[in-house]
Amino acid sequence: MYEHGTMKINAAGHIEIGGVDTVKLAHQYGTPLFVYDTALIKERAKAFKSAFEEEHVAFQVAYASKAFSCIAMYQLAKSLDLSIDVVSGGELYTALKAGVEPEKIHFHGNNKSIEELTMAIDAKIGCIVADNFYELELLQQIASKHGTVVQILLRLTPGVEAHTHEFISTGQEDSKFGFDLASGQATEAVRIALDSKQLKLLGVHSHIGSQIFETDGFVLAIEKVFDQLKPWRETLGFVPEVLNFGGGFGIRYIEGDTPLAPNVYVKEIIKETKKHVQALGWEMPEIWIEPGRSLVGDAGTTLYSIGSTKDIPNVRRYLSVDGGMSDNIRPALYDAKYEGALANRATDPIEDQFAIAGKCCESGDMLIWDLPLPQVKPGDLLAMFCTGAYGYSMANNYNRIPRPAVVFVEDGSSQLIIKRETYQDLINLDQPYKMQEVVSFEN
Ligand SMILES: *Cc1c(COP(=O)(O)O)cnc(C)c1O
Repeated sequence: MYEHGTMKINAAGHIEIGGVDTVKLAHQYGTPLFVYDTALIKERAKAFKSAFEEEHVAFQVAYASKAFSCIAMYQLAKSLDLSIDVVSGGELYTALKAGVEPEKIHFHGNNKSIEELTMAIDAKIGCIVADNFYELELLQQIASKHGTVVQILLRLTPGVEAHTHEFISTGQEDSKFGFDLASGQATEAVRIALDSKQLKLLGVHSHIGSQIFETDGFVLAIEKVFDQLKPWRETLGFVPEVLNFGGGFGIRYIEGDTPLAPNVYVKEIIKETKKHVQALGWEMPEIWIEPGRSLVGDAGTTLYSIGSTKDIPNVRRYLSVDGGMSDNIRPALYDAKYEGALANRATDPIEDQFAIAGKCCESGDMLIWDLPLPQVKPGDLLAMFCTGAYGYSMANNYNRIPRPAVVFVEDGSSQLIIKRETYQDLINLDQPYKMQEVVSFEN
């Protein structure tokens, strides 16, 4: 079993997280249940931050909150002195309600609406990562109406696509995000931003992908960004105060996943930036990064109760759980792989491989295809590991299945941070059908 963070097997043979028995958690809060090991989140945040501190580089570590967003998570991030990335009015609203200082919020997205941008400018958030020409226009209009200046970064598409173990240099990137470098669009955007009285261009941003296990993609992206910065200095007089190199730092989901430690990514990013900065004789800019998955991904575990089983001799043994693609759509959406274990009998000898099925009415609603488990019976508790990122945040009500509850655990105690959705919650927005007067048709 993949024991990570504070996870261990206790004397009763149960999986324990944050010093709390998962069997007790399941009894207390019901299943499916998301359990977050907050000590592990704190450790990761500290690892990213201390790597910058050790190098004496000014920085911001912004939690990419789309990975897992709720009031308590924003408050935890705030207590760890993280900045916050949001990508919608809903995330912005939640972060503000949670008490995050507006200056520490950065707003991303390729189609921010007028309402969303107005909300962000009204709240005086720290910076908006401008994604396209239309947004630059809107920002100027809104800022001018409000008599204010908006701090922005420009999102660049450096033409580097990083995958788990390799990266692809595409030169000209076919992406819905950001300003393309190769075509000169990025240069045009810099010119617009510098010419505008309503915009204060802090610097540039790039994000090359997700679940990245190597540093070469970052190194290449930094090189491509500096290939532009140099002529921008010469022709436009622009020197960035901030360079944001995004997120995407990988985590271990299954055996064979080999992520680097947070400080390895950070130190390589710093080293590479320093090299270019020194060659140009510039001051070192502030460096920002945006980890999402690597802060919360492996801190999350989902507890499911096992229900029906189906054995197809010589084919497969299915076990069905009380959740599925409604609380974790990643296997169905991306063919994402996970590991798990029997939480209530974690030391029992492995009997066979099982296929873990969700309860949604889709054949594709499979969580894990080949999980080695002991002999299983209905009512057993299954722990699925590393579900903390893009699990709850992508949860949905397909089949009108209520979304699970979420708890934080640490030092032997648990706290409910998101209540389980009720059937009443499911119909709260529904309006009754108003019967029309019946008209009969005759020809
Ligand atoms: C999604 C995203 C991130 C976070 O990605 P992770 O893989 O969760 O670290 C960071 N920055 C931007 C712009 C993103 O879109």
